[in-house]
Amino acid sequence: MAVKTEVRAPAKSVTREAEEILLATEMIKLGARLQVLQAETTLSYDRLARLYREVKGCSPPKGMLPYSVDWFMTWLPNIHSSMFYSIYRYLDCYTPAKKSYALIEAYRLYLEQADAGRQNGSETDEPVLSFTRAWMLLRFYESGMVQLSNCVRCKGGFVAHAHDPDHDFVCAICRPPPRAGKTRARHVLGAAI
Ligand SMILES: [Zn+2]
Repeated sequence: MAVKTEVRAPAKSVTREAEEILLATEMIKLGARLQVLQAETTLSYDRLARLYREVKGCSPPKGMLPYSVDWFMTWLPNIHSSMFYSIYRYLDCYTPAKKSYALIEAYRLYLEQADAGRQNGSETDEPVLSFTRAWMLLRFYESGMVQLSNCVRCKGGFVAHAHDPDHDFVCAICRPPPRAGKTRARHVLGAAI
């Protein structure tokens, strides 16, 4: 016999909703896509889309998120992602900032570092690692698709494919590809330390 269960949405606390709106606003300012906001808050799609338009003054971009794990393994993105992830892990372990708040704080600190690197001669205005990519990187960690490998030369932790052997791992800073050029590598290194 089928049992009829009544599904009723629990009454939403106004304080909780206000917190989520503030959280979503911060993430929108940092460049979050709508899918990220939907995953990190319980606000409805319509409310988030409205909030996005209010904060950004334009409609949220449509389309899929960039889902590739391989992107994080390419030279420059790998250095930036590793820098972001190291900051995130530190905040998550040693400060009260957790989850979305640790993500926001870590991304802000990453932007500061990336900005310091830019003053040293990088040619683009957009940060290499977007907020949405940073968020995806954390999802990839949670689902066990990537790991942090320690470089045998500089001892730094770097983003790598999960289960890749890392006993003789050399990072992208210690062994940049020839096309990267020594000048740029040194600038990125200067920003990362
Ligand atoms: Zn290294």
